[in-house]
Amino acid sequence: MEQNFESIIGLEIHVQLNTESKMFCSCPSGARKNLAPNTALCPVCSGQPGALPVLNKKAVELALRAGFGFNAQINKESVFARKNYFYPDLPKGYQISQDDKPIIGKGYIEIKDAQGNTKKIGITRAHLEEDAGKSMHEESDSLVDLNRSGVPLLEIVGEPDLRSPQEAYDYLTNLRALLSWLDVSNCDMEKGELRVDVNVSVRPKGQEKFGTRMEIKNLNSFKAVKDALTYEINRQIAAVKAGETLHQQTMLWDEVKGETKVMRSKETAQEYRYFPEPDLKPLIITEEEIAQVRSSMPMLPSQKREYFEKELGLASYDAGILTKSRQITEYFEKVLSYGVPAKQAANWIGTDLLGALNACGKEIEDSPLPPSEIAALIKFIQEGKISIKMAREIFPKAFNENKKIADLVKSLGQTQINDEAQIEVWAKQAVEANPKAVADYKSGNTKAIGAMVGMVMKLSKGKANPAIINKILVRLMS
Ligand code: ADP
Ligand code: ZN
Ligand code: MG
Repeated sequence: MEQNFESIIGLEIHVQLNTESKMFCSCPSGARKNLAPNTALCPVCSGQPGALPVLNKKAVELALRAGFGFNAQINKESVFARKNYFYPDLPKGYQISQDDKPIIGKGYIEIKDAQGNTKKIGITRAHLEEDAGKSMHEESDSLVDLNRSGVPLLEIVGEPDLRSPQEAYDYLTNLRALLSWLDVSNCDMEKGELRVDVNVSVRPKGQEKFGTRMEIKNLNSFKAVKDALTYEINRQIAAVKAGETLHQQTMLWDEVKGETKVMRSKETAQEYRYFPEPDLKPLIITEEEIAQVRSSMPMLPSQKREYFEKELGLASYDAGILTKSRQITEYFEKVLSYGVPAKQAANWIGTDLLGALNACGKEIEDSPLPPSEIAALIKFIQEGKISIKMAREIFPKAFNENKKIADLVKSLGQTQINDEAQIEVWAKQAVEANPKAVADYKSGNTKAIGAMVGMVMKLSKGKANPAIINKILVRLMS
């Protein structure tokens, strides 16, 4: 980006809440159940005159969980409002939402900025609302499926605190991890369970006043968010430098062409004529309800991360990877439960396992290697039965060929070199080649032996028994 310009970004995000039933009726909230079109309907969610909405308690509970996750203010009284507009997928002619009295007030989500410092990104508010149906256009027919009509959503409006496409990407990543961690939403973008609208403007550095913002819709991945922002920021800077005046517009991201295009100008934006929903009482949340939901909250990813750093001594980077999703954290903790050291477990999971899963497009839930197998591998290394090098050979076999670690170690054992006389020859070479390490070792730095173990390993092409190498080196140096 142009050095003397700065970009300002604020996101508006809709997530589908993890409820069994819809927001105001008992129809299944079935977008993810692949129901045939228009089979999850009733008078309420298909907008029949006179049908009355009844609030889904679970949706309220999930909104509160999100609120705690954002360290946000919980509004004990919030109000549902009608947002009026016409669209074929909106049978009532309005959407029930929340306007000036949302359930969740100000909060924040943390990200790491370019310098690695923690930065708080403000959340302005989060409110409950119902989803609309889905329109489909087939040749000369326009069809509508109302299964999604009335599905509970949480809309999360963020402060314009983000300063780069990367920060927006990191914020989304952390938000998604947090909400799926808390079981608030599955946040599967491909299924439309998480939708992002971005607002972006640019200003010369040093200027306090924000520039004119553009809203970009139709972003279907975090990568698309980042690409669209990068494109749009450059476009706006070029326009400002050329002396153009920008007008607030709603744009679409064309993924194929890699450019934004104007959808409509904000001047013609519609007026929603919000008014309080007469069929629903204000939503009152009691102290007891707040306490009850709070007590059911798990440790947050940020707290876990800090715990992994401070109590287990993991590097910040590793702790970050291991708290990317609750499934990864649970896997890691399961491996630890077998009594292996945290650092080794973090390495094998963070690098080898996640790398292998990534390469075949699998999630950790579908890992062919259960936690017990990773723990077994680490134990074999610790006991000196195999070297790290051997473990690296065994790992992909266990992962790809569905073989047991113990069996692979056994068959490797037959190629392992246990001949003490031979190992002593290599050990002597290593001692001669490393006078400094020997001196360090003798003056009490026992870690200095590592360099020599490594050399013997190399000389043996990774086949010498590490336990025997150690024993012989210690003897030679004492
Ligand atoms: P609206 O009423 O049109 O929805 P809001 O003031 O509620 O507008 O802002 C919507 C979103 O736009 C918020 O996420 C906010 O952070 C972001 N935003 C507001 N002003 C700017 C700006 N100048 N540049 C970038 N984003 C902005
Ligand atoms: Zn219904
Ligand atoms: Mg707004």
